[in-house]
Amino acid sequence: MEPVAGLGQMGAHHTAIDVGRDSFLIDCGVLFPAPWDVGVEHIAPPLEPALQRAREGRLRSLLLTHGHRDHIGAVGHLADRVPGLSVHATPFTAALLRRVLGERSAKLDLHIVHPGRPVQFGETTATWFGVTHSLPEACSLALETRGGTLVHSGDFRVQPDPFLGPRTDEDGLRGLGDRGVDLALVDSTGAARPGRTLSERTVADNLAAAVDAVDGLVLITVFSTHIERVAACVEAARRCGRVPALYGRSLESTVALARDQGIFGDHGGALRDVEHVAKLGGRGLVVVTGTQGEWRAPLARIARGEDPRIRVRPGDAVLWSARAIPGNDRAIGLVVNRLVDLGVSVTPPWGSAGRGLHTSGHGLRDEVGEWLSWVRPRAVLPIHGEAWHLAEHRRALLEGRPDTEVLDLRSGGAVEFGPGQAARTVGAPTDRTFPVGVGRELWSGTERALRDRRRIARTGVVTASVEGDRVEVVAVGVFPEAECRQAEMELRAAAQAALKQDPRPGSIEDLESRVRLTLRRAVKARTGERVECIVRGRFSRHGN
Ligand SMILES: [Zn+2]
Ligand SMILES: [Zn+2]
Repeated sequence: MEPVAGLGQMGAHHTAIDVGRDSFLIDCGVLFPAPWDVGVEHIAPPLEPALQRAREGRLRSLLLTHGHRDHIGAVGHLADRVPGLSVHATPFTAALLRRVLGERSAKLDLHIVHPGRPVQFGETTATWFGVTHSLPEACSLALETRGGTLVHSGDFRVQPDPFLGPRTDEDGLRGLGDRGVDLALVDSTGAARPGRTLSERTVADNLAAAVDAVDGLVLITVFSTHIERVAACVEAARRCGRVPALYGRSLESTVALARDQGIFGDHGGALRDVEHVAKLGGRGLVVVTGTQGEWRAPLARIARGEDPRIRVRPGDAVLWSARAIPGNDRAIGLVVNRLVDLGVSVTPPWGSAGRGLHTSGHGLRDEVGEWLSWVRPRAVLPIHGEAWHLAEHRRALLEGRPDTEVLDLRSGGAVEFGPGQAARTVGAPTDRTFPVGVGRELWSGTERALRDRRRIARTGVVTASVEGDRVEVVAVGVFPEAECRQAEMELRAAAQAALKQDPRPGSIEDLESRVRLTLRRAVKARTGERVECIVRGRFSRHGN
């Protein structure tokens, strides 16, 4: 078992498993880039381990635990490189995958599985066990093989009384534990924090109480795949005599998928058109996208007063039923403060935890302990976390489960076990660079163009084309608009003077670098900044 990525980074989850001649993959997600990763849409796991297995004809299937982007977001890149890639997923996960991939999903050999119904791959049995999380049909996934049994927890929490959807399949996981589990890979996201997550029913009650206290229109912002929470918002509207609506493309389409598949309960019947509901004021409630302050999402548009459907006014309220993903606080703050300036009462994400309007989809220490007490693995490998999460999870396990072997590994290492041989780590973690998604392409993480993007984004760029002893200069993002033309003319004159000054014939490279140096100095003299300068041209031999 080789965790290719997802150990040491929160995202790009991707694991390879070899059983004799067969190989399986579990999940293939993306990691979201840091703000300084300019021009990068997402970061993918290294695909070479999967491609190697595919080339050798060993790859049986990619098995998906659930439909969050950190688990399915890079499947398209794999599908582009492995013709007819076999994928197994539950109906809702498959539907989300099709939506992410668009027409590229036609390249897949997609098989639908159902939790609790084993799927046979030769001598290996794969079983998905339903767990509670923060979207429908999240699963733990077990592979029972000739060499022993491995179970991947997936992302999970243990909710005794979900608001929507089935409970965690305790019986199934206990049964698996009875048959014997050699190795469990377990979600570390919440494992270091003591206690349990708030129940989704409590969140639903708190939402209803918060809505009840508002006179005007209520907007609740949620993650668009959190169908259970959307249902809780619809229920809060019902209890407070308000008419609910959904607003935001991703939210509307995810709820439509859930309704089609019969996993939205009877909550869909109450939904009305957003324009109608917005006009109802104190009798309306709108569930809206934009939890992370995304500039183009409806909530940010409403905060800017630019939304065509909803105008908020004093007396209205906006509730965050979501957390702030690290790095997004400033964007969220902008939206929050604009809403406050409009006289709206706001419960921002940093306040909603205290009021119990949100709870994590990742179980805390007691829930992880409960899952382990059902599965009873001989060895545990903490996964799904940055170094800190993994270390804290490991420590909690060593304290709480003295009889369990707790493995320590980073992405790129491997764990081996077999009949009569306990799970142990083998080999050292390899330091692979993660490829990055740029549009539809996948670039190497060390690609020079990425450094160029960062540099140009920081300082702007000056380009010069040289033909004979004539120079044309264009500056982008370097000077204020009012000065730009004048500055370009001065740079051009400086470059031409430099060409004339030294009429000795030289190589094109020499001339290009001489012009580049001149331009850099001229810009520095004017702005005080070191700016990227690019020179291309056909040169005549000077002096002729
Ligand atoms: Zn998840
Ligand atoms: Zn995840």
